[in-house]
Formats: sequence, structure tokens, C-alpha cells
Amino acid sequence: MAAALTNSFSLLRCSCVIGSLAATKRPLPPLSFSLFRAPPVSIQSKRCTRLISASIDEEASARAAAASVDSGGPTIFDKIIAKEIPSTIVYEDEKVLAFRDINPQAPVHVVLIPKLRDGLTQLGKAEPRHSVILGHLLYTAKVVAEKEGILDGFRVVINNGPGGCQSVYHLHLHILGGRQMKWPPG
Ligand code: 5GP
Repeated sequence: MAAALTNSFSLLRCSCVIGSLAATKRPLPPLSFSLFRAPPVSIQSKRCTRLISASIDEEASARAAAASVDSGGPTIFDKIIAKEIPSTIVYEDEKVLAFRDINPQAPVHVVLIPKLRDGLTQLGKAEPRHSVILGHLLYTAKVVAEKEGILDGFRVVINNGPGGCQSVYHLHLHILGGRQMKWPPG
């Protein structure tokens, strides 16, 4: 059932892309040309399905994470801070910890967190007292980018809430680089 839904959603999204191409009113290539180039279309369709499935997974896990956020319980990041589970740490001081993301979205993908959550489950919960740690996190993002050799071009992302696809409710910055970033982001 879920697979069927995913497939139909994928088709819908792919159709939208095709529909929006048609809406540009640019002349379409001859039909025979399109038919003889069937393999690339098929590859494109598979890629489209894969991307959309990944996107649905992220959104579902973000919604599930948001549903339990008010418990205020520890997250996976508390275990990383306590070194109860392994991570590849790239920077640490008394206030923050930076480690490589387990599911990297770029050649360099580092997650930077405050060691003390202090109510900062997400940026949207920030209060005036948090401005010092928020400033420190942003400055540390630059330090990490420098250490990783991506100072010439990198991106800092904070996902906030289910609409922002946040999946771990302990404020964190994503530091991404090592490839050309695109805009707008997904
Ligand atoms: P969010 O989706 O909340 O913005 O980002 C959470 C990030 O934490 C994700 O990119 C995810 O891959 C990463 N992550 C989740 N669990 C672990 C883990 O156990 N170890 C590491 N290193 N990263 C994790």
C-alpha cells in the first residue's frame, strides 16, 4: 500500500515536472527523437522516483520526531556528547561539539551542536539568553569550515520543525561543502 502510494506520488511529481516543462511553450523536440532516446528518460524517471522517495522518508521521519519533541527527553546527540555512541569528532570545546554526519549530503557534512541543550530543541525556541551560544555556534561554523578546507564555499543550514525537515530535537547546524551548492535548496 505504502509502495503504491509512493509510486503514484512519484508519478504525480514527475508529471508535474513534465507539465511545467510543457508550460514554458518552448517547441518540443520531434516525437521520434524522444522515442529513440528512451533509456535516458527511463534513467531520469528512476532518479526522480529515488529523489522523491528520499524526500518522503525525510518528511515522515521529521513528522515522527516532532510528535515526540515535547517529551524533552535525551536525543541521539546526547549519546554522542556523552561518547556513548561513536562519532567522528572534528572540533570540540567546552561549549560545542562538531562531528561528521552519519548520512552526508556533501563531501564535507559536519553537524555542530551546543553541548548544553538548555531548551534549545530547535532554533524556534531561542530566547534572549541563548544569543551568546548562538553567536558561538555561528563563529565555530567558520572555524570548522576553515579546518575542513572549505572556507571558499560552504553552506550552514538549520532545519527547524517538521516543515523544515528537522529530525533531531537538539539544535544543530549543518556545515556542508566540498561541492558546488545549488540554489534554491529543496
Ligand atoms: P536534522 O534532520 O534534524 O536537521 O539533522 C539531523 C542530522 O543528524 C541528520 O543529517 C542525520 O543524518 C544526523 N544523524 C542522526 N543520527 C546520527 C548519528 O547517530 N550519528 C551521526 N553522526 N549523525 C546522525
